[in-house]
Amino acid sequence: MGAAGASRGLGRHLSERAQSSVGRPRLPDVSDAVERASALRAYADETAGCTRCPLAGGRTQVVFGVGNPDADLMFVGEAPGFHEDQQGIPFVGQAGKLLDRLLGGIGLQRSDIYIANVLKCRPPQNRDPQPEEIASCESHLFRQIELIQPKLVATLGNFATKLLSGKPLGITRVHGQDQPVTLGTSQVLLYPLYHPAAALYTPSMLRVLEQDFARIPELIARADAAIPVALAPGQPETIELPAREPEPVQLGLF
Ligand code: URA
Repeated sequence: MGAAGASRGLGRHLSERAQSSVGRPRLPDVSDAVERASALRAYADETAGCTRCPLAGGRTQVVFGVGNPDADLMFVGEAPGFHEDQQGIPFVGQAGKLLDRLLGGIGLQRSDIYIANVLKCRPPQNRDPQPEEIASCESHLFRQIELIQPKLVATLGNFATKLLSGKPLGITRVHGQDQPVTLGTSQVLLYPLYHPAAALYTPSMLRVLEQDFARIPELIARADAAIPVALAPGQPETIELPAREPEPVQLGLF
């Protein structure tokens, strides 16, 4: 991990946007786990009626996220597929079964972690998320991260990795490379991984994913030791968001 680390200029952006719409309390007011869990439930209820983008018209339900609201480890996937849209739970299809197996391999289960997606609603025919959809939806994810305060955020595939790193580098280049980032008011270790749906059909990618997964316990321990849970309120953000450049997406996942 480089000493300087990467930082995203999301703090003010997050806090202003998060507070302006519903008058939510500032982060220090929700800093304890019980309050954060309760705020996360309230935010899920609020998000259930989201109509920020046209995906609202085609969904069965919003797939907000599930798991331990105080998890050290959070996974961020791409978008709900058919089964997720039906059941309202992320990663319940074949990719989810693989994710469960990989978690089991490092001694974890779903109740230990939190899982969410970049998009909370299923794109039609499981097509790639569109930039406008990501822009409409991203503050839901940022708010989840603010409330959960994970130490390690494992991004699954290109969309989550590019959004949370703020860089256009594809997953093939950056998988397995942990990087400190500042997301809102929290410092986290970002850990890009191949998307399990891609690894399902490519044995060589599955082997790499397994190897990258094997480092997760060590990274959580390291993040636990090295990273303060939250930055001091009002601490200035120094690096602005890099411009997002369009890049061909490597994988059609669904
Ligand atoms: N793929 C994702 O990225 N998210 C899901 O919830 C399911 C499959």
